[in-house]
Amino acid sequence: MVDREHLEAHVQFFRELGVDGVSRDGVWRTAGASSARRMNPKVELSQVREEIGECTRCKLHSGRTNLVFGAGNQNADLMFVGEAPGRDEDLKGEPFVGRAGQLLTKIIEAIDLTRDDVYIANVIKCRPPQNRNPEPDEVDTCEPFLFSQIDAIQPRVIVALGAFAVRTLLRDERTPISRLRGQQYSYRGTILIPTFHPAYLLRSPDKKKYVWQDMKQVRAILRGD
Ligand code: URA
Repeated sequence: MVDREHLEAHVQFFRELGVDGVSRDGVWRTAGASSARRMNPKVELSQVREEIGECTRCKLHSGRTNLVFGAGNQNADLMFVGEAPGRDEDLKGEPFVGRAGQLLTKIIEAIDLTRDDVYIANVIKCRPPQNRNPEPDEVDTCEPFLFSQIDAIQPRVIVALGAFAVRTLLRDERTPISRLRGQQYSYRGTILIPTFHPAYLLRSPDKKKYVWQDMKQVRAILRGD
């Protein structure tokens, strides 16, 4: 049973996002995995993981506790891509488990899904020192593994979280994320939707309403609206 305080916190969060109604239609909660077009994402992902191995390809390996490969539903129709692991993720070996991750969980739940319905990964698999931005050689080395993850999962929608992930994936160094978001991009056979990073939302809660707009687009695509 959901306790009252928990429920109230959720309702409050939805209000902050600007949510003005709740669908009682359970149908699209299970609309996630249409597996017909996929080969075998589980096997393919474990091959990618094996290929990465105990990676020493770039300088970030020396400072890591754990490599953060990715987590979630290997048959997901929806994939989130962030920048790189932070401290909490490095310690746990899982993406988005710190404060920003808790907010991401709420964002996922706001469109009636759970973390188990989606797949979450980062452009970079090892934590950069002091959470600095990943450097070009680190991106060049690590990004092919993200591509392989995307190709294995073949999600219908990718949500790119934050300026770094958006600009890296779209190969656009210049355009600010505030101009890139609000649109859909064709990307490796999927639809890419850029949005603000949850860590940025923690600093700028007034931007949550834009993320809600973007997530409504995601929901409409997954529903086939
Ligand atoms: N920020 C990211 O971009 N990725 C994580 O996994 C955690 C925080």
